[in-house]
Formats: sequence, structure tokens, C-alpha cells
Amino acid sequence: MSKPINEFRRPVSVDFAPRGSACEWCGKPAERQLTAIGGRYHNESGVFCRECGEKFSQAVANALHTAVVPEAEVC
Ligand SMILES: [Zn+2]
Repeated sequence: MSKPINEFRRPVSVDFAPRGSACEWCGKPAERQLTAIGGRYHNESGVFCRECGEKFSQAVANALHTAVVPEAEVC
């Protein structure tokens, strides 16, 4: 079973990868195309295998999490 709980919290849009495409990170057959929404990864996209797709999603989520912390006061 998948974990649908996490799906809507992910700042990543998921599509099917074009047939025949290879994972950008490891070169294995890609399963999904991921596009980051928001944060410093905004509009970053690529095709990934299942494993690397998870890492990509996690990286985006982590980046957003740290981005939530205010770095400067706004006057
Ligand atoms: Zn991969």
C-alpha cells in the first residue's frame, strides 16, 4: 500500500515520466516526472526512478521547511 497521507503535503507535482526516459540521478528507467512547487526549488523538474523521486521530494520538502524560518526582520 502507498502512503496517501503524505501526498498532499508534498510541494512537488507528480506526473508520469515520458516512456523511455531515464532517471536524471541514477540513469535507471524513470517512472515519474517531478516538478517542485515553491521554495528555492521552484520550477525545478526532472524525471526520476521511484527511489530518486522520493529523495527529490524529500529534498524539496526539507528546503521548504528551512525556508519557513525567517532570516531577517521585515520592517
Ligand atoms: Zn534514480
